[in-house]
Amino acid sequence: MDFLKVENLCKVYGRGENQVTALDHVNLTIGKGEFTAIIGSSGSGKSTLLHAIAGVDVPTDGKIFLDGQDVYAKSNEKLAVFRRRQVGLIYQFHNLIPTLNVVENITLPILMDRRKVNEERLNDLLDLLGLQDRKNHLPNQLSGGQQQRAAIGRALMNAPAVMLADEPTGSLDSRNGKEIIHLLKESHKKYRQTLIIVTHDENIALQADRIITISDGRVVRDERQVGSS
Ligand code: ADP
Repeated sequence: MDFLKVENLCKVYGRGENQVTALDHVNLTIGKGEFTAIIGSSGSGKSTLLHAIAGVDVPTDGKIFLDGQDVYAKSNEKLAVFRRRQVGLIYQFHNLIPTLNVVENITLPILMDRRKVNEERLNDLLDLLGLQDRKNHLPNQLSGGQQQRAAIGRALMNAPAVMLADEPTGSLDSRNGKEIIHLLKESHKKYRQTLIIVTHDENIALQADRIITISDGRVVRDERQVGSS
């Protein structure tokens, strides 16, 4: 079954002369556990699409179904819970809370959900992220790569069904960038997650099962790659 279905998705920003059509009737389906790269020039609508899938940017028209659920048919409250539990979103700028240490940042979505932290999972994640010896550090005491890993940890803590990453390596040097992609792929395999990465980087895109190209808010190419990852 299709895990993610995007149906006639449109997003228009602004009004009148300032109106911008960021997404223009996008249709696509993605299977469970697929690793997809979304590429396209700057301003083509990649981030808008990713944010619409993540449930953070309400579309002007069209629908998104995730695991059979109509994402934007939910009340705001239910949508917020859905996002916290089902979707891991990773930005280029890590959005960590500066006054919270690594463990506190990673477990924040769980605490916001008033649920109990699964200590075993937290420990597994700290191992996977290579952050065991940095777990009590504040974000400004970490390198850029470590901060990005902590942000990934926060996105992974809820074992989300789908991981969405918007230029996750954009602010990192090439070594740290490679590590982050390796980590995303490891977790995608380990937890059978559906992974979607928006990227400018051809080397990252070539590692995906599938590459979708967006231009002027439309899907202009959709290719499956043989022998990827
Ligand atoms: P990409 O991620 O491919 O660089 P975006 O999805 O960020 O592209 O943007 C698509 C288009 O929508 C661009 O023309 C951009 O200027 C416009 N856009 C994005 N966000 C907003 C916004 N909040 N308000 C107005 N226009 C926006």
